[in-house]
Amino acid sequence: MSRSGQRRRGQRQRARHPRVPKREGEGKPALKKLVRSVERDVPTVTYDRNDDSVVVVIGSGAGGGTLANELTRQGIDVVLLEAGPRFTMDDFVNDEWEMWERFTWKDKRDATGSSPVARDFAAAPTWVCKGYGGSTLHWTAMCPRVQPHEFRARSVYGEVEGANLADWPFTFEEIEPWYVRAEKKMGVTGRNGIPLHPGNNVYKLLALGAKRMGYRDYDTNPTAINSVPYGGRNSCDQIGFCMQGCRSGAKWSTMNSELPAAEASGRCEVRTRCMAVRIEHDDRNRVREVVYIDGAGETQRQRARIVCVAANAFETTRLLLNSESSRFPDGLANSSGQLGRNYMRHTTGYLYGVFEQPVHMYRGRVTGGIVRDEAGHDDSRGFAAGYFSGSLGLGLTFLAAFMNPRGWGREYTSWIEDYAHIGGFHFNGEDLPLETNRITLHPTEKDDFGLPIPTLHLDDHPNDIAMKRYANERTRALAEAAGASRVWVAPPLPASHNMGTCRMSRDPERGVLDAFGRSHDIENLFVSDGSQFTTSMAPNPTLLIVTLAIRQAEHIRDRMAAREL
Ligand SMILES: Cc1cc2nc3c(=O)[nH]c(=O)nc-3n(C[C@H](O)[C@H](O)[C@H](O)COP(=O)(O)OP(=O)(O)OC[C@H]3O[C@@H](n4cnc5c(N)ncnc54)[C@H](O)[C@@H]3O)c2cc1C
Ligand code: SF4
Repeated sequence: MSRSGQRRRGQRQRARHPRVPKREGEGKPALKKLVRSVERDVPTVTYDRNDDSVVVVIGSGAGGGTLANELTRQGIDVVLLEAGPRFTMDDFVNDEWEMWERFTWKDKRDATGSSPVARDFAAAPTWVCKGYGGSTLHWTAMCPRVQPHEFRARSVYGEVEGANLADWPFTFEEIEPWYVRAEKKMGVTGRNGIPLHPGNNVYKLLALGAKRMGYRDYDTNPTAINSVPYGGRNSCDQIGFCMQGCRSGAKWSTMNSELPAAEASGRCEVRTRCMAVRIEHDDRNRVREVVYIDGAGETQRQRARIVCVAANAFETTRLLLNSESSRFPDGLANSSGQLGRNYMRHTTGYLYGVFEQPVHMYRGRVTGGIVRDEAGHDDSRGFAAGYFSGSLGLGLTFLAAFMNPRGWGREYTSWIEDYAHIGGFHFNGEDLPLETNRITLHPTEKDDFGLPIPTLHLDDHPNDIAMKRYANERTRALAEAAGASRVWVAPPLPASHNMGTCRMSRDPERGVLDAFGRSHDIENLFVSDGSQFTTSMAPNPTLLIVTLAIRQAEHIRDRMAAREL
């Protein structure tokens, strides 16, 4: 073998086996080359569209990308359909709006309801990505741990009027082994011997405010962003463009980890610019093929042994509703009537403070600190469940847009002039499932493929409103305790966490999926994204989505081996 051939082989092995030690003298530039070489290493495996032995995965984000990789590791052949284009690190630029344009899913949606999100962002109630890597291209990689009691929300919080609360069909203890594997896979800092990041200026303000408020449980935030080289990825350069893909390759995304590994296995064909529009089933209640529109606008059909949908809650729900049939007139896998219902997005808030000394909040990771003291359930605060708060560092252009979407006038410009002295804070809390918070098909509006667009109805439950009021007050107090001379409370953003529309349930009449994400109605149909969530819990959702995907892949392997699928 030639020397360059040997080098390529070594690089591939290192990419698949992250713990292979570096050669002496190998530093960051070599690692950077490694990530790029894996991205370019697109293999040639293709599957016939009539091959009904493959698992078809729809969506290449946190759920679908991870599932595809884990299935190939079990020796299972995968065809992955992704609606958006293929991205590599060469497509990333450190420009907030440029990358928003490139990454964001911009197809039309619609929202109604009394929630400020429905009011302010009726045409774009959710913020997700379209392309190789899904929303892990944009995500800021916060990975707080779930709290065991959050899997028993109905039992712990009790009956909450107007909410459709339920316990998850498993306990935290049952899934903890996969949870730890997800943390290792993603390289979450502060876990498994991986050090936490150093604190940036906004974190120092957060920590000072937290200390003065009497909080005790805060740090620089476990994130799937390398504090040291790990998993074939570089360590963080602390330059603050995490939401723009991360040109340094420090942030875990399925684009730079799961998908290249799946493709390099020779068992996964990723078809980008391929939009799944319908799933067909047979008379025996088994799904048989996926209809999709390819990049040339042609309709294609891919036969399948198993179909796994991971298109993020809006598109997963829309696809299943659009796949109605005489047997499932209300949408595929919807005999419970729960498909599309119980949509959750988290109760969120964003506050900005002006400080005497310069903060330069754009320096360092976007979400560089977390406070966990309010995360537990304590109904003496006037609401059920809890929330995390943390620091936030935005560049000038995103700050100008997000702090006041219709910003104008003297007060607004005085804030923008103070940009260098501004520090950002945010909170993220559990919102409750409501049957009426629901994604349905629009009665008249269609997309470019002639399919009805998804429409969301969203009202905030009184519990969400009470939590938000309390969290806003406490976060404001924290910013002031750290020295903020004035504080701006910003409106909520479109939802980047989308959960619950195909929820898991023990009882098939109360949900869409079983404890492994398999449809209660159709034995070879799975859902593999945040739509599975029974409740939203306080932590950001992606670590749990990845956990469930690893576990689901093993379940599929076992069922296939037993010839039950
Ligand atoms: C700005 C931002 C910041 C975030 N920060 C965090 C964070 O700090 N921590 C955290 O836990 N989470 C965060 N998230 C959320 C996180 O990105 C999502 O939870 C996660 O990516 C969801 O995974 P998924 O597999 O459900 O969907 P996605 O990752 O969105 O992937 C879905 C994929 O399916 C594709 N698709 C959709 N419909 C079809 C179709 N019909 N046919 C084919 N393909 C289709 C889409 O193009 C997309 O690529 C953030 C998100 C955003 C936008
Ligand atoms: S700060 Fe963000 S963009 Fe910069 S290297 Fe770290 S993760 Fe990547």
